[in-house]
Amino acid sequence: MAKGDRVALCFFVDALGWEMAQEHGTFRKVAPHAYRQRTVLGYSCAAQPTILTGMMPSEHGHWGMFYRSGSSALAPLRTMRFLPPVVTGHRRFRRRLLQWHRRKTGFTGYYNFYRIPFELFSTFDIVEKKDIFAPAAFDPGVSSIFDHLVSEGVPFRSWSWTSGLDRSLAELESELREKRTRFYLLYTPHIDGFLHGKVDDDSAVARELAMVEDKIASVIERAKEMYSQVDVLIYSDHGMLKTTGTFDLMGLMRNVELTPGRDYTVFYDSTMARFWFSHDGARAEIVDALSTLDCGALLTDDDLKSEGVYFDDHRFGELVFLMNPGVLVLPSHMGAQAPKGMHGFTPEHPDSYAVIMSSSELTPAPTHIRHSFDAMKSLLG
Ligand SMILES: [Zn+2]
Repeated sequence: MAKGDRVALCFFVDALGWEMAQEHGTFRKVAPHAYRQRTVLGYSCAAQPTILTGMMPSEHGHWGMFYRSGSSALAPLRTMRFLPPVVTGHRRFRRRLLQWHRRKTGFTGYYNFYRIPFELFSTFDIVEKKDIFAPAAFDPGVSSIFDHLVSEGVPFRSWSWTSGLDRSLAELESELREKRTRFYLLYTPHIDGFLHGKVDDDSAVARELAMVEDKIASVIERAKEMYSQVDVLIYSDHGMLKTTGTFDLMGLMRNVELTPGRDYTVFYDSTMARFWFSHDGARAEIVDALSTLDCGALLTDDDLKSEGVYFDDHRFGELVFLMNPGVLVLPSHMGAQAPKGMHGFTPEHPDSYAVIMSSSELTPAPTHIRHSFDAMKSLLG
């Protein structure tokens, strides 16, 4: 059978850090040109849009998974606050509620209710309402690689978190045979999920990385049999740090003589707490309480600006307290048990860095995850 002309294969491996990929030599054979990339402050919900648009969170608008809003799509769920905690805290209840909410709203983006108290559901709205691995996911003026592919008329196919790694790879391999598509982007959360639970187990990590590498490499091999030119990019959004400690910020706040909801509002992420204030007195008291802690630090507006996560309307917080690398807010609105690994600490930590690996040299050399956007575009020439 005649070979296809040229095909671009992009594999987005969530949480494959630069340090870890270097240590294990992961993907060295299929994509030998590796570059260290600084990530953005925040979580995948900030980093992934940065990779897909080439913009910083303050430009594409996605930082936290939830932002403060006067009219939230979650507001109807607030009535659940009257249900007993034994019901509302149950994982299966939350999962079913999430499935029902996705069906009812038609939202296709990634969000989760975790352990967010239902009384906050009228205060916070979801940022990622649309599937970011498809065109037209962002606000007007923000265009992603998929919008670019549409405007250039390039046939493409993508796989997001909704499909498991084996299924996505099997579908990719069968589509390659048809030779109709020019650009593929396959996202997998597999390594991220694994590392949250087992990042402290070195031999298990080595086995899992090798397993994922083998599966991806075998599809690349098949592509090489079918196409004259196969361009490969493998990149991540951030790394993973081992959990080294926890701190009960909620407990600290209970000792502050202010009433949540009336004097202030707080969202407890796993590595940061974001505050909004009803009056200056509340702000002063909370700044005083947080300033005594050595488990993290308050970020200034200049810090947020230099990280590209500052928003004039403070929709993601008027004050941000960021935990030290490895130390979790626990309990938080994300969970009550500490995972073995977490990300979302300072991008400066060596284990926070992401990686991009390519089958050919990338010039200029990428140094930030937003450069993955340019690398993807460069495969279309
Ligand atoms: Zn993760």
